Amino acid sequence: MESWSAFADWHTHTHYSDGKGTIAANALAGRDRQLRQVAITDHGPASLGLGLKEPVPTLSKMRAEIDAWNASEQQPLLLLGAETNLISRQGDLDLPRKLLKGLDLVIASLHPLVRPLTWQDGASMLLPNIVQRYTRLRSRQLRNTNTKAMVEAVYRNPVSFVAHPGLWIDIDTEELANACVRRNTALEINCQHTDILFDYVAVAMPTGVDFVINSDAHSPAQVGQLAAGLHLAQRLQLSPERVRNIEQKG
Ligand SMILES: [Zn+2]
Ligand SMILES: [Zn+2]
Repeated sequence: MESWSAFADWHTHTHYSDGKGTIAANALAGRDRQLRQVAITDHGPASLGLGLKEPVPTLSKMRAEIDAWNASEQQPLLLLGAETNLISRQGDLDLPRKLLKGLDLVIASLHPLVRPLTWQDGASMLLPNIVQRYTRLRSRQLRNTNTKAMVEAVYRNPVSFVAHPGLWIDIDTEELANACVRRNTALEINCQHTDILFDYVAVAMPTGVDFVINSDAHSPAQVGQLAAGLHLAQRLQLSPERVRNIEQKG
């Protein structure tokens, strides 16, 4: 079991959204943990109060910092990504397709505190999800709306993986996982929320979907802290070939 090791952390935040460190600080932390790749994936612009501001110039500034680090040929290789938000029932994400295509990696997430595309999306999806997060109310209709929206997002966009599905939001994990299999999109085992995610990984596993294990670091010290996710995967006897950022040693 100790022979599992992660070569990449593909979900980390910086001061460009709600993270505390710089891109270089995340890179240095990744180097200390002997990672070969670290992705910088700040929140998309629809995240209330903390998303990327002015995405076009900001992403190009971030790209320049990443290119400078990579030109130095130090480990790890830095990738530019974004943790985009689902903002409509039709699967729209909060960055235009053109910007998504320029990224090395796209994460799709369903967060409650997000500016919706239209007021109807707010009224029928985002707002009820906020209510559900803080109450025990459950509605099959909302679950269907969430699932359909995320499945559409996976079909319509170049999504590398879906972040922490099921976290705070009610969703049909099996249906989402089946869509991900068809689109070669992975599901994330997010190391900030492993307690909540045990059931979802167990439900998704039989579909044959691939996983990625990430830190979702919001400070450089958390970059590459993947022990909790590795532990969860091993407890569920997930085969290492199905975890994209893992390699088996020995
Ligand atoms: Zn998130
Ligand atoms: Zn995140």
